[in-house]
Amino acid sequence: MSEPAPVRKVVVLGGGTAGWITAAMLVREFGAALDIQLVESRALGTIGVGEATVPTIKTLNNGLGLDEKAFIGRVNATFKLGIQFEGWGAEDSCYMHTFGAIGQDRPFCPFHHFFLRARAEGGGGDLWDYSLNYQAAKQGRFAPMRPHPELPRFDYAYHFDAALYAELLRDYSLERGVRTLDALVKDVALDPETGFVRHLVLDSGDTVEGDLFIDCSGFRALLIEKALEVGYTDWDHWLPCDRAIAAQTPLAGEPRPYTRSIAKAGGWQWQIPLQHRMGNGLVYSSGTWDEDEATRVFTEGLEGEPTTKLNHIRFRVGVRQQPWCRNVVAIGLSGGFLEPLESTSIHLVHTAVLRLIWCFPFQGVSDWEIGEFNRQTLHEWGQVRDFIIAHYHLNTRQDSELWRHCASMDLPDSLVHKIGLYRETGKILRECEELFGNPSWLQLFEGQGLRPRQFHPIAAALSPEELAGMLDGIRSTIAKPLAAMPSHGDFLRMLASPG
Ligand SMILES: Cc1cc2nc3c(=O)[nH]c(=O)nc-3n(C[C@H](O)[C@H](O)[C@H](O)COP(=O)(O)OP(=O)(O)OC[C@H]3O[C@@H](n4cnc5c(N)ncnc54)[C@H](O)[C@@H]3O)c2cc1C
Repeated sequence: MSEPAPVRKVVVLGGGTAGWITAAMLVREFGAALDIQLVESRALGTIGVGEATVPTIKTLNNGLGLDEKAFIGRVNATFKLGIQFEGWGAEDSCYMHTFGAIGQDRPFCPFHHFFLRARAEGGGGDLWDYSLNYQAAKQGRFAPMRPHPELPRFDYAYHFDAALYAELLRDYSLERGVRTLDALVKDVALDPETGFVRHLVLDSGDTVEGDLFIDCSGFRALLIEKALEVGYTDWDHWLPCDRAIAAQTPLAGEPRPYTRSIAKAGGWQWQIPLQHRMGNGLVYSSGTWDEDEATRVFTEGLEGEPTTKLNHIRFRVGVRQQPWCRNVVAIGLSGGFLEPLESTSIHLVHTAVLRLIWCFPFQGVSDWEIGEFNRQTLHEWGQVRDFIIAHYHLNTRQDSELWRHCASMDLPDSLVHKIGLYRETGKILRECEELFGNPSWLQLFEGQGLRPRQFHPIAAALSPEELAGMLDGIRSTIAKPLAAMPSHGDFLRMLASPG
């Protein structure tokens, strides 16, 4: 058997967020050791949405060495302390999934067990009284906070203009030696013996050869699906929304430091405030609404006149069965799509490239590395999927078949276990390296009305005075830094001011 060919020339197909994140991370890590070329059709354009992130975006930017202040200015970013979910439990429910911690864990027991005990005894107040993120978000305040042993952890992500972010990463990559080609790929040539992609055929008739091809061609999935015919696992029986409408409106007033996600009979509507405008979208199920009805609901829900054409998008929720096949790695929308309820797509691009860097096939593509990459990728996608499904499942709405179906549908076993464990014991299971940790699951369960039957006995060991002292202490430590925080708008203006 012949030795696998070493990989030196990498071709990234697609210049959306996924393509440019991939190119930027590879060139940052490997520099001149690789010859990286990105092929994109500027005429075809990109999906044009994807403006909200999770806190790991800071790790990505730090890894690339981007300066936060310059980044914020360049991509018109605002700070995101969490997502406010309106109408997701009962129709009149409202809660926030914030990125910070809730209270402070004791060395051997998570905080929420103490809260659950206090509530069982008729006290404790509201869970979000113990969240600095929440209190700041609701007061429209923001300033980064250094970790402090007495404060609940504070954390944030960004809202930004995705097109400007892709441009920033494009400049970054080109400065470091990535080559780019604006051309339409018309065909893909496979090696008849190995089935590997040998080259791309452009509409000019020219070809682009490579050792490894990264498919960032978006929903078109030109390499992984059209050329290699790798299948797709649909998750629409758990996540029935399959359409979206997006448009921008002017920003009315100061930008809120959080995303809004408002449940509707046939789906949900988002509001993402940027420095200069509001990003809006409606995600809906075509089984509940046709396009006209969805458009009517969407435009009624806008807080101003749209300044852009309505962008109608169709999608299939699910994951590529083998995100890496032969010498093609699918990253971004070509590799799968989880609807944007928890703003996880850019994060999943970031972790996919981290994994690729970890098992980069310098000595040639190996089935061992492909297998491990695919195993980890599918595991990660399953974890994020479960978190999103739980939002739909734990609703008590009665206004449409969509919500009634979601409340009664069969769940993945992994999610049945997670929900059951919490309901029966108050314990939250966080698997190794899972994106969403205890505070995220806790806020989702609490916000959508899932009440556990028990709390951990460790919480029963405190005297009533000790318990009250602990809870009062956390509330009062939050109050001080909160009062000193500037408004979100003032903080952004401070960042924008010279010096
Ligand atoms: C409704 C919706 C809302 C979303 N919201 C969020 C969010 O809030 N947060 C988040 O993290 N993610 C979000 N996402 C996901 C996010 O938009 C994508 O993950 C991200 O933009 C990456 O897209 P992409 O680069 O894979 O694809 P695209 O942006 O579609 O880019 C595909 C690229 O491939 C090129 N291409 C395709 N075919 C050819 C060809 N034949 N020849 C040459 N070039 C070609 C295109 O020109 C383009 O450059 C959302 C997605 C949807 C659908």
